[in-house]
Amino acid sequence: MKLKILGHEYEIKFDPKLDKEHGAFGTHCGGTLTILIDNSFPQSHQEESLIHEFIEAINFNLGLKLEHQQIIALSSGLFQIFKDNNLINFKEVIKDATQNSR
Ligand SMILES: [Zn+2]
Repeated sequence: MKLKILGHEYEIKFDPKLDKEHGAFGTHCGGTLTILIDNSFPQSHQEESLIHEFIEAINFNLGLKLEHQQIIALSSGLFQIFKDNNLINFKEVIKDATQNSR
């Protein structure tokens, strides 16, 4: 699946070994415009990781220089608001995982 973030078309990919091999639920690469999510975790983890990597992408592209702890706190806060109020549903993105693994 591709998502537009700040005018850039990011490829969202999934890798069930990402955490085992790189110690991360998700990664963002501004150079290759790729967001990678470990899909061996429950859906809620994947959804929060996606929000986290969106903020990483915003941080990177706008040069905000946010500390990583700030990115963790922002993604955690936004995820909770979105989920508790049914504001977003990432099922379509997550569902795509089986067809778009690394
Ligand atoms: Zn991060």
